[in-house]
Amino acid sequence: MPVVPESLRDIRAQFPIFARTVHDQPLVYLDTAATSQKPARVIERLRKFYSDEYGTVRRGSYLLCQQSTAMFECARKKAASFVNAERPEEIVFLRGVTEAINLAAVSLARSILKPGDEVLVSAMEHHANIVPWQLVRDMAGIHIRVIPMNDKGELCLDAYEAMLSERVKVVALNHVANSLGTINPIKQITALAHGVGAIVLVDGAQSAPHLKIDVRDLDCDLYAVSGHKMYGPSGAGFLYGRYSLLERMAPYQGGGEMIDRVEFSESTFEDPPYRFEAGTPPIAEVIGLGEAIDFLHDIGLEAIEAWDQALLAYATARLSAIPGLRFVGEAEARSGLVAFTIDGMHPFDVASILDRKGVAVRAGHHCAQPVMRHFDVPATLRASFGVYTVPEDIDTLAAGLELARDMLS
Ligand code: PMP
Repeated sequence: MPVVPESLRDIRAQFPIFARTVHDQPLVYLDTAATSQKPARVIERLRKFYSDEYGTVRRGSYLLCQQSTAMFECARKKAASFVNAERPEEIVFLRGVTEAINLAAVSLARSILKPGDEVLVSAMEHHANIVPWQLVRDMAGIHIRVIPMNDKGELCLDAYEAMLSERVKVVALNHVANSLGTINPIKQITALAHGVGAIVLVDGAQSAPHLKIDVRDLDCDLYAVSGHKMYGPSGAGFLYGRYSLLERMAPYQGGGEMIDRVEFSESTFEDPPYRFEAGTPPIAEVIGLGEAIDFLHDIGLEAIEAWDQALLAYATARLSAIPGLRFVGEAEARSGLVAFTIDGMHPFDVASILDRKGVAVRAGHHCAQPVMRHFDVPATLRASFGVYTVPEDIDTLAAGLELARDMLS
């Protein structure tokens, strides 16, 4: 059993939710890939902002507004440093990855894509990186093509290279697949895409909570992050964009302070990132996200990454011993989760039995129906880890799975 490292030893106590029980059992939370629990300091940051500091941003000259604006822009600096962006203006605050990819698809379709252009997505995408491209497909006259994967859940890089041509304008894929845990080789994929002049958009929903992200090293053009999966409040995330690309991108939504000048005949727009932040933003949530970034920095992303790998190895070994259990997603490079089926048992039935034991896991298609079709399964069970996950959680999961086997077989 791996030993919890020093930097994570008191972490669980910082998450108030673990003080409660579920069905009279201690909570074993193994659904961080869906959304993470929140540390007390993030909850306290929201409370303080709402009770003592609340005001709008960028819309008033009074003190509360000035202070809110300063805190909001400070969160932008933290987000920029979190992904190693060149400047804070490369960070656009949004609700999360879904909104970020919808923004990218609509904006690129309005400003850059031409009929006949191709957008490549991978076979292991979340629906959030498939459907937005389909929604703009007819408007922009583009084609969507799919980079295949093998049965371990790894992208076929030879096939990807063969698909690249001057017609490919966007390559959009996840850094870590939420249904498989695969870590994709983004740096290599980006270098190849740039060889044909394509823009690379990375869905970082599952990577940001576990891996150290360096957009300059990856050299990607757009990188989307959801705050609620990395210990921040729900309702806030961000899109990193290379500034020279953001400058070429059309607005996504209109209204509020995203304008330069408005006439009834036409309007002109602010520079990025404000051009993309129409309406009153999720102010408290963004400030809370800044606190979550500090929380992650204080632990250290290297320590988080190492603990994630230790948990992954332990879970893989522990669950392999369960008769009839098959992993779905066995890539060499993985992060954050194990997904599996158990012969003769429906994932939903297993998840209900686990829930009675206080174990929260996800059963379903994980918003990745094409992945389920590839592996010819209707659904999988997924146990995903966070900074508060301890090896005993995996032992409780394994015991619950044994119990489910006895009850259902
Ligand atoms: N992409 C991936 C890989 C995800 O795991 C998720 C969340 N399940 C999303 C996109 C969507 O993120 P959000 O719901 O925060 O917009």
